[in-house]
Amino acid sequence: MEKKEFHAESKRLLEMMINSIYTKKEVFLRELISNASDAIDKIYYKSLTDDSLSFNKDDYYITITPNKDDRTLTISDTGIGMTKEELESNLGTIAKSGSLAFKKENEIKDGFDIIGQFGVGFYAAFMVAKKVTVLSKSLNSDDAYKWESSGIDGYTIEKSEKNNVGTDIILTLKENTDQDNYDEFLEEWRIKEIVKKYSDFIRYPIKMEVTKRKPKEEDSNEYVDYKEVETLNSMVPIWKKNKSELKDEDYENFYNEKHFGFDKPLKHLHIKVDGTIRYDAILYIPEMAPFNFYTTDYEKGLELYSNGVLIMEKCADLLPDHFSFVKGLVDSPDLSLNISREMLQQDRQLKVIAKNIKNKIKRELLNLLKNEREKYEKFYDAFGRVLKYGVYNDFGAHKEDLQDLIMFYSSKERKLVTLDEYVSRMPEEQKYIYYATGDSIERIEKLPQTELVADKGFEILYFTEDVDEFAIKMLMKYKDKEFKSVSDRNLGIESSDEKQQIEDEEKENKGLFEHMAKVLENKVKKVIASNRLKTHPVCLSTEGDITIEMEKVLNAMPN
Ligand code: ADP
Ligand code: MG
Repeated sequence: MEKKEFHAESKRLLEMMINSIYTKKEVFLRELISNASDAIDKIYYKSLTDDSLSFNKDDYYITITPNKDDRTLTISDTGIGMTKEELESNLGTIAKSGSLAFKKENEIKDGFDIIGQFGVGFYAAFMVAKKVTVLSKSLNSDDAYKWESSGIDGYTIEKSEKNNVGTDIILTLKENTDQDNYDEFLEEWRIKEIVKKYSDFIRYPIKMEVTKRKPKEEDSNEYVDYKEVETLNSMVPIWKKNKSELKDEDYENFYNEKHFGFDKPLKHLHIKVDGTIRYDAILYIPEMAPFNFYTTDYEKGLELYSNGVLIMEKCADLLPDHFSFVKGLVDSPDLSLNISREMLQQDRQLKVIAKNIKNKIKRELLNLLKNEREKYEKFYDAFGRVLKYGVYNDFGAHKEDLQDLIMFYSSKERKLVTLDEYVSRMPEEQKYIYYATGDSIERIEKLPQTELVADKGFEILYFTEDVDEFAIKMLMKYKDKEFKSVSDRNLGIESSDEKQQIEDEEKENKGLFEHMAKVLENKVKKVIASNRLKTHPVCLSTEGDITIEMEKVLNAMPN
């Protein structure tokens, strides 16, 4: 027998699990069942692409066996199993993504699905078990191995016996305490309830021997108990079900079960298309950005299934970059199973599906904006930046799709407004969409350049993010109205009288201005008279397309 220590990070995670920051212990079963299902998926997928393996659907199932005498709960599967090496690497270390997430430990708030965040479901077993035993025989090995651990002390591995390929996970439950009851996880009704709640859509049967009761003889009042194996789940994937059968809660549970996020999704879309292309999809708009969303670590993509069989975990081609926050899956019977990644990119069906999905997401976001403003603003808080980058990226190729989805804070009540809202309330004499740039709303409001525009009663958009001005430069105009920075020398507000007055002042003060320009040599290009100042004596302004703020960004960029 070999005795090993857990890797350091695994150890800390285990400690957290055991001390249960997690609100619902019952999800351990969801995690173990989904691992079992993944393992069967793997053997199923192999049989589809490897002729030497045959797949008889009846041979693949998950069994749950409670034993009240031993206080054990066993979850068995007929999946692909694990070799000795796999037991070590899969159960002795936490996944890479998990270790990244782990660093965010301090930001975890109550009630969030920790496991979902880490993607390390197996460890959830330790929330309810004082000892976890894994007996596994791999498809690729003649020997079976037993992995066993009682928590943070480490684990042991030894050779063992097992007849069929697959894995048994045997949990020896913790003793009950005043606060926590673990016995409940041995009760048939409770197990049924948890399976129904979280794992109903699992594609393989989840079987359990249940106790039933029948009359001793026909018409008798005496009853006898008997045992019968029952399948607890309906096995229909959620996306194959009718929308009318499903509640918001079902979609939310599925979101967590699939580890799409640890928040509660803001919105879900259930799409069924049955035309020249056929596909089902469930898409989610998350409420919060994943911690790595605005880093290069973040990988966009949707799960891709062909007739219920997972063929790719993150199909990036299904989502444009500006909708990279969308989570979910697509299942299409028209995709070939043993399609390679390279072929997928060429796939015409996939391109059509991607376009279709993009339009549905856009429409859903517009609906959200129109009908559930508060939710939309929440969404925009988390993901608005990626939409604005979308306007700018690819030389503005997506601006049509995005221009009605972007928002900015404005001088009117300091609230978020859409471009449509801005333009529709522009007074007739206003020619341009005005904006001002700065680090914060407070600083923008103090800018002398905003005075004249504000004085005219014109609304000003506040650009506080670097991307803002680049995005609208790409848009150029919205509904035929051009954008104009308040620091532009030519605001389009001045009357011809005012212009004359400025010219006169410039002539009168020619000597003074030239002297000032000389003193400020290399700092300003020229000094001129302005009519835009009310309370401030001077301000900086620009000529041409690049504003002072853009210059700052451009100068800060590495070249
Ligand atoms: P995840 O499922 O997110 O990969 P888990 O902690 O749930 O993370 O599981 C870790 C790994 O252990 C899995 O990726 C899989 O390789 C392996 N594993 C867990 N349970 C089983 C099982 N029942 N059969 C085969 N492999 C398993
Ligand atoms: Mg898992």
